[in-house]
Amino acid sequence: MRYVLWDFDGTLATRERMWSGALWDALLTVTPDLPCDFEDVRPFMQVGFPWHDWHIPHYHLDTPEKWWSSIFPLFSRAASAFGCDDIAAEKIAIVAKSNYLDITKWRLAPYAMDVLMSLNLSGWKNVIVSNHVPELPQLVEGLGIAPVIETIFSSANVGVDKPHPEFFEFVLRGLGEIEYACVVGDSVVADIGGARKANLPAILVGTSDVTADIAVATLREVPSALDVLAKGTSAR
Ligand SMILES: [Mg+2]
Repeated sequence: MRYVLWDFDGTLATRERMWSGALWDALLTVTPDLPCDFEDVRPFMQVGFPWHDWHIPHYHLDTPEKWWSSIFPLFSRAASAFGCDDIAAEKIAIVAKSNYLDITKWRLAPYAMDVLMSLNLSGWKNVIVSNHVPELPQLVEGLGIAPVIETIFSSANVGVDKPHPEFFEFVLRGLGEIEYACVVGDSVVADIGGARKANLPAILVGTSDVTADIAVATLREVPSALDVLAKGTSAR
């Protein structure tokens, strides 16, 4: 089998203002008079998630409840910093989770569906490999791309995040017989770095970097980049 190992966030789909947006909307819902701006919220969502500390596996967080229980303090800590009491902070964490999972806030990237379908038709299997929440399969379903996705590996369910070598080791073991596999993603550290550690070729989307085998501006160029790599000497 030939596999495309797709990153999700920022590559196939995006959530409006990401984690900060989910927290910000929760703050507005629970405590509308809070004296803070969206920009004040962002720094709180840029540290502490498992993917920020990717070198530390979290196999012990082996249920969605346990995984979320490690995330809730990030939300409630931010809420407390803006003056919320403990009860409001706890409520904000619960609302932020439900906001993050709200499918109406998610959008597919331009060309995502077309590209996934055309790769399927030409014999590639699409796999999602993402630093994400346990409920990633539901988001994939909600965005309507599940029929063209072979399988989904979310770091919350794997127990370790990209670019930790154990993440891609787990993915490759799970896929079994592999004729060719290539990572496609928008993160130099998580996607290209993770691919490098696993000795996989990688295509960088939306930006360029010397560590990527090929860099493309949009998803539309991914199929031809895959063909070039799979036929070229860098193929594994
Ligand atoms: Mg990404």
